[in-house]
Amino acid sequence: MLTLTRMDGPAMADTMAEIHSTAKGGGDPGRPRVSREKRETVGTITVDNPRMVCRNVNVYYDGDKQAIKNVSVDIGRNEVLAMIGPSGCGKSTFIRCLNRMNDTIEGCRVTGDIILDGVNIHDKGVDVVPLRAQVGMVFQKPNPFPKSIYDNIAYGPRIHGFCRNRSELDEIVETSLKKAGLWEEVKDRMDQPGTGLSGGQQQRLCIARTIAVNPEVILMDEPCSALDPIATSVIEDLIFELRSQYSICIVTHSMQQAARVSQRTAYFHLGDLIEVGPTERIFTNPRHELTQDYITGRFG
Ligand code: ADP
Repeated sequence: MLTLTRMDGPAMADTMAEIHSTAKGGGDPGRPRVSREKRETVGTITVDNPRMVCRNVNVYYDGDKQAIKNVSVDIGRNEVLAMIGPSGCGKSTFIRCLNRMNDTIEGCRVTGDIILDGVNIHDKGVDVVPLRAQVGMVFQKPNPFPKSIYDNIAYGPRIHGFCRNRSELDEIVETSLKKAGLWEEVKDRMDQPGTGLSGGQQQRLCIARTIAVNPEVILMDEPCSALDPIATSVIEDLIFELRSQYSICIVTHSMQQAARVSQRTAYFHLGDLIEVGPTERIFTNPRHELTQDYITGRFG
């Protein structure tokens, strides 16, 4: 049995070689793969006691250009769900649905149900400001505010009214930076600009900023794509740890990264959710021919 989590360097290279050979080998004997022409989701879309439930989600740009086609999937508690697939398949569009970031794109229309803790996030009474604190987002390129390290973290709790006085705010700032693994590196220079940190530190600052407003779900859209391998590895370790407290959805173009950090993987292709399941199974025994094509490098 392959173990796909927490591997680096040569061990991971071996694992990916094994992924390819295992996946090419035909998987489950007697159970033919689902053909490339079929676009219904293969695998188990539900989880026990989900944090978020997405059903029949469709996204259209500019009228009728459909980027997400009838996608249904649950997001579990304390899990990392990786979204993989070729460029343009809709990973970012889908993740942006989860905290209504697509509302900010003119001409973008979302239909279907997205339920967070029993409430449809599209209901009229839902305010997107607290929603985006509950379902926070970390972007590809670290985007600290042009403020001090302290104020980058303090900004959210202040505007959401999470603290009554300076000492409560100090505590939130310290706890958030500790959870993001950045406290030791910045505790003596809290008044310096966040933009002066290294790329990897800036990304952890952005993660701390997200954590500071008490999220339940953290969305990460290729959070390591602008980082070097060492900074990437630090963020991956952090993602692994954060799972004990949050639900995390991560878009990644790196199958190795998906294998290292996630427990479940969702494979998208041209707007369809083709397959979803435990990460190890997706990479060793994909049930859909399109998933197999992707993980064996036939396209991507
Ligand atoms: P991925 O994250 O998998 O690379 P995207 O979600 O960025 O894919 O894109 C999915 C599809 O939606 C692509 O065809 C892309 O061109 C289109 N798309 C994404 N953003 C926009 C936008 N703001 N306006 C119009 N089309 C868009």
